[in-house]
Amino acid sequence: MKPTLVIIGASYAGTQLAASAREYGFDGRIVLLGEEPDAPYQRPPLSKSFLTGQFAEARLPLRSPAFFDEERVEWRPSTRVTRIDRDRREVVLHDGTSLRYDHLALTTGARVRTLAIEGAFYLRDLADARRLAEASRTARSVVVIGGGYIGLEVAASLRQSGAEVTVVEAESRVLARVASEPLSTFVLEAHTAQGVQFRLNRKVAALHARAGHIDTIELDDGARLSCDLVVVGIGVVPNVELAQSCGLRMASTPGGGVAVDAYARTSDPAIVAAGDCASFVPHGSATDATDASALRIESVQNANDMAKTAAATIVGRLEPYRAVPWFWSDQYDLKLQMAGLNTGWTHYALRGSLEARKFSLFYFRGDALLAVDSVNRPQEHMLARKLLAGDLHPTQQQVSDDAFDLKGWIAQATTRPSA
Ligand SMILES: Cc1cc2nc3c(=O)[nH]c(=O)nc-3n(C[C@H](O)[C@H](O)[C@H](O)COP(=O)(O)OP(=O)(O)OC[C@H]3O[C@@H](n4cnc5c(N)ncnc54)[C@H](O)[C@@H]3O)c2cc1C
Repeated sequence: MKPTLVIIGASYAGTQLAASAREYGFDGRIVLLGEEPDAPYQRPPLSKSFLTGQFAEARLPLRSPAFFDEERVEWRPSTRVTRIDRDRREVVLHDGTSLRYDHLALTTGARVRTLAIEGAFYLRDLADARRLAEASRTARSVVVIGGGYIGLEVAASLRQSGAEVTVVEAESRVLARVASEPLSTFVLEAHTAQGVQFRLNRKVAALHARAGHIDTIELDDGARLSCDLVVVGIGVVPNVELAQSCGLRMASTPGGGVAVDAYARTSDPAIVAAGDCASFVPHGSATDATDASALRIESVQNANDMAKTAAATIVGRLEPYRAVPWFWSDQYDLKLQMAGLNTGWTHYALRGSLEARKFSLFYFRGDALLAVDSVNRPQEHMLARKLLAGDLHPTQQQVSDDAFDLKGWIAQATTRPSA
């Protein structure tokens, strides 16, 4: 009998895993279970052009409707998995029925971290985005709690739609968890120039509502912000409860996900995991994903590339996950593109011009290039990905010189015979 692959979670990682499994020759049954009613769709536009009304809902689906038939993927919407029985190799669904698997993939993603604020809006899925888009149509003054990427993208979108926007951030700078200080400063200034107000180092102390709607937010310094819409963007938590309750190993890092090795394998050989729900150790590391160095990356790139690794593992082609991480964010006319992980950088080089709003920041530890953030320099972002993928390390002096031919240098470095 042909094997059955059951995938839990029908978004980037789940859909890519199904597509790649077919591409790599998996000929058994593929069942893609998703609790959401909508066909798998793109999330990034939800905080950007979808919110400003420039990206129609019809353009959101990740795959054409024909994909599921053509690739023989049984996509089941509005289907929630409530339990995994590893002994029987079965998943139990919300309606009490069960489904047998030979291979199981966990692509359950993440959900928003919440605050005890009734009446606030969040943004993770299409249902949230529809609600927020509707409410923002009449909103005059908006408070965004959280100055991470989602919070800032929402702030930019609603500001562009004409609302007064204040961002409240508990840390001393925006993007504190994910970006370097120079990039944070640049982004803060870009928002300030657009008229967005910031309250840094501040937390919400109390709320005041009238007729069921929040109309004032009180901060921990006593300041009161009047508003007619509150959006909370304070990060996500991985959906790991299914994995946890069936005894799979978890990463020990705070907010960690399901521990997987470089081949996306969990502690059960029949189960892989990929995307926002999974923690892995970078390829070549001597430790495993329960270690403090484990990474859980929340990005489209990571979901897609880890899903490909997981699919390869399922068909018995062990290919370690070693893709260069990359991410993007659009705010106003700024295209921010990040490549690599800058954790532990000791110095950086600026290439281009902050004033012209076209530049890249190259982060180094010693002589090693770790990561590159680009603003309105999409071609340089692509070069940065090539540098990082090829383990190529130009000097700080070279990259600081805008006249230095980075593209030519990469071409030479990649054709040079190795010593
Ligand atoms: C508004 C927004 C903007 C973003 N912008 C960017 C960006 O610009 N660039 C970028 O790289 N990334 C961006 N991201 C992040 C990116 O969308 C995520 O990293 C990506 O969606 C992760 O994909 P995933 O498949 O791992 O998980 P998810 O997309 O979270 O999908 C998991 C799916 O599993 C389902 N599920 C969970 N549990 C169960 C269960 N028990 N049974 C059935 N189904 C279940 C969930 O309902 C969900 O549909 C953004 C995210 C959001 C929300």
